[in-house]
Amino acid sequence: MKITMAHGSGGKSSAQLMSDIFGKHFSNQVLDRMEDAAVLEVSGRIACSTDSFVVTPLEFNGGDIGKLCVCGTVNDLLMMGAVPKYITCGFIMEEGLDTELLERLVASMAAQAREAGVMVVAGDTKVVEGNGGLYINTTGIGLIPEDRNVSSSNCRPGDAIIVSGNLGDHHACILSHRMEIENDIKSDCATLNDIVDALFECGISVHTMRDVTRGGLGTVLNEIADTSGCRIELEEDAIPVSPDVRGFADILGLDPLYMGNEGKMIAVVPAEEAEKALEIMRSTVHGRDAAIIGYADEGSGAYIRTRLGAVRRFDVLYGEGLPRIC
Ligand code: MG
Repeated sequence: MKITMAHGSGGKSSAQLMSDIFGKHFSNQVLDRMEDAAVLEVSGRIACSTDSFVVTPLEFNGGDIGKLCVCGTVNDLLMMGAVPKYITCGFIMEEGLDTELLERLVASMAAQAREAGVMVVAGDTKVVEGNGGLYINTTGIGLIPEDRNVSSSNCRPGDAIIVSGNLGDHHACILSHRMEIENDIKSDCATLNDIVDALFECGISVHTMRDVTRGGLGTVLNEIADTSGCRIELEEDAIPVSPDVRGFADILGLDPLYMGNEGKMIAVVPAEEAEKALEIMRSTVHGRDAAIIGYADEGSGAYIRTRLGAVRRFDVLYGEGLPRIC
């Protein structure tokens, strides 16, 4: 079956779609009340983040827009030291969207929400004219434990910068689909609860965390350098990139420093805790390829020491990058 304008009417077809697909996969005690708004019990500091997902294609090697829209929002909450609790979703569907595909995407979203420990507490659907496309907005709420204080501004001279794994996988995967290049490159799309939980459970004094998404590591590190008033220096040789993505990037002239990811983060920790933090990250599923890639220092700007020993400054991503990567 295909989505038609009638599914956005608010009438019988909308109700049918709601029960057959959304209600079926998202059912929980808050959502099932079907009132005008979800009522949530929260106390203390909360983190709140919203993001819209327009990725194309809707399904790709290693993920899909349903999985991605949970990962993106949950990871943003995690990066503030929050424990993700609730998520809302707005589906904007184009006429002609296949309902079997829609159900796969909704099921994938529900599975990822379960894995990340978040409850889908509110949602909305709209139908617009178009060609079978789909856009999803998600908003997430997480609770910040009292003893956590994580911020881009907390990076200090001497701190070590650890990346959780290989860069560029999601970018290379999406681009491969678009260019119809066949390879085994999978998106790294994942929620990073395991890494963040492990760091805090082991008592690491995490100063800063950022997920390395659109704009890549280069952009994120420039933002941290600016916000914290530090100079950041990376070791090019230490930056992990898989051989497949390295080859793909070389052929297309892409720099992994600016390639997007959907399941990678950096943690900035005091130098004396860096080895312990690295070991902890490597013991998790999503951090098994973690590496210490550089240090913060007095000064400003972001620099990279190249394989040949030269030090050059790098800036944020300029221009387009890859449109509709997330
Ligand atoms: Mg982020």
